[in-house]
Amino acid sequence: NNTLSNKGYVTDDVEMLENIDNKIYTYGSSKGPYVPVRVGKSGINKSDLRYVKTVGEFDVMCRYTETVMANIGTSISKGEFPIAPYQLNKAIPCSYCDYKSVCRFDNQRNRYHYLTKLSEDEALQRMKDELNGNTKDTTGGEV
Ligand code: SF4
Repeated sequence: NNTLSNKGYVTDDVEMLENIDNKIYTYGSSKGPYVPVRVGKSGINKSDLRYVKTVGEFDVMCRYTETVMANIGTSISKGEFPIAPYQLNKAIPCSYCDYKSVCRFDNQRNRYHYLTKLSEDEALQRMKDELNGNTKDTTGGEV
């Protein structure tokens, strides 16, 4: 039963994982209730490595998110908040949006914010580049 464990990534720092759940070594081939990866004597189970990120990767993701949020705040305070829902492949958020009836998005007049699917490595590299000032995009990956 792992109903209490978060979905998403966890740190690859086993000592930190042990601090989250001090029984982490006792679950064998099952995942424990708190941490969504299995940990054995030789470390994190190889097939669970896709769920972990390094402390440095978390740092990049957090700093990038802060940058995006700060930029959005700056834009809003300048009165810039265009109706520009994302479009990724054919998916758009408007399909399941509760505000559709009051939103004035019209694809004849407004533009979608087109996103391109990235691999995790590409996304992380883009974030690093952005933080290092190597790109101009701060809005979440438009290409
Ligand atoms: S319907 Fe309007 S508010 Fe809702 S996701 Fe689309 S653009 Fe945004």
